[in-house]
Parts: sequence; C-alpha cells; structure tokens
Amino acid sequence: MGIPLTIKPQTLIGCPNCDLLVQRPSSKKRHDACCPRCGSLLVRSSLDSINRTLALSISGLILFIPACFLPLLELNIYGHTGSCTMIKGVLQMMKSGYWWMSCLVLFCSILVPFFIQMLLFGLSLALKLGAWPSLLVRPLKLYQSLTEWAMLDVYMLGILIALIKMEDYGDIFPGPGLYCFIGLLVLATLSILSFDAGLAWSLIERRTP
Ligand SMILES: [Zn+2]
Repeated sequence: MGIPLTIKPQTLIGCPNCDLLVQRPSSKKRHDACCPRCGSLLVRSSLDSINRTLALSISGLILFIPACFLPLLELNIYGHTGSCTMIKGVLQMMKSGYWWMSCLVLFCSILVPFFIQMLLFGLSLALKLGAWPSLLVRPLKLYQSLTEWAMLDVYMLGILIALIKMEDYGDIFPGPGLYCFIGLLVLATLSILSFDAGLAWSLIERRTP
C-alpha cells in the first residue's frame, strides 16, 4: 500500500522491529511514541528539549574559556613548580615535534566540542524563535556528522592517567581549570543528550515554506 499524498515522506519514521512506517509525533512536548503494530519504542519523549539544549549549550560555551585557559594541573616536581592548561599542552606538543598529535588533540578536544556547542546554541535558539527554518538544514547535518569527532571524555581519561603516572615524580594538584573541564564535559554530554535531532528535523520540515 502506498503512502497517502498528503503525508510528507520526511515526516515518517520506520519501526526498527517490524518496518512499519509511522508519522512522527509533531507537538513540541511529546511523550514516548510506540509502534502501533508491535509496540516497539519509536521516539523517546523529549520534554522541552529545545529550551534545555539552549540553557545547557550557553553554560557549556561559558565554561569553555576557563576550561581552556585556566590550569588543569599544578605540578611540584623536584622543587620545580608549574602548571598546565589545555592550550599550553597543545602548544607544548607542537614544540616537542608531535605536531600531528597536537592537531588531533586541538581538533577533537577543543575545536569540535566548541563548534558542537555553538551549533547546538544556534540551532536551539533558531528553533525556539521559529526563525530561518530553511537555513538550519546544513548546520543540523554538520552537527550530526561532528558529534562522532568530539572526544572530551578521551581527553579527561588522558588527564587522569597523567595524574596517576606523574604522582611518583612529585606533587600534582588539580587546578581550577580541571573543575571547569569536568563541568564542561558534563554539560556537553547533557546538551547532546537533550537535543532531539528528530524533533528539529520535523520542526524545520513543517516551517519551511
Ligand atoms: Zn513495529
């Protein structure tokens, strides 16, 4: 049986269990949507997803500055004291000849997470205001492809390994930047989780003339 002409194909979602095509729920405040044939969960409820993403992305963007520029770790090794920031770490790696690794860290741990927060901020603000729906298609596609490259959690793991490894050589203390970085990691994860790309696509589809 074909799809009625009044239903736009872009507003349909397929059941992952039985392949039934179902029209995506359209209201902003949704409840869980289940397949009418087999009962599988099709869409999770995303109560006030746009407002939450907007608030979380603004907070994430604010925390980016201290997380990058304040000391992550403060060191006292054999009487020498010093501190290490995210930006300093990248520059130090470049100076030491590990330019490819420094580019990778810069890209995955600073640039991509920053652009993702910027995109989430811009998208949620535009969706909230109902503005420029046709201009949101490319940023939304870019956001969906960039999320695979954000690796703040890997960087956090690196900091923890450095903390444990270097403890044998001297005193290491967490700096204010580390607390900001942990806050940023939590906010970045929550903002990605709270953003409902399916809802965004459906709003763009309905508002595009
Ligand atoms: Zn089904």
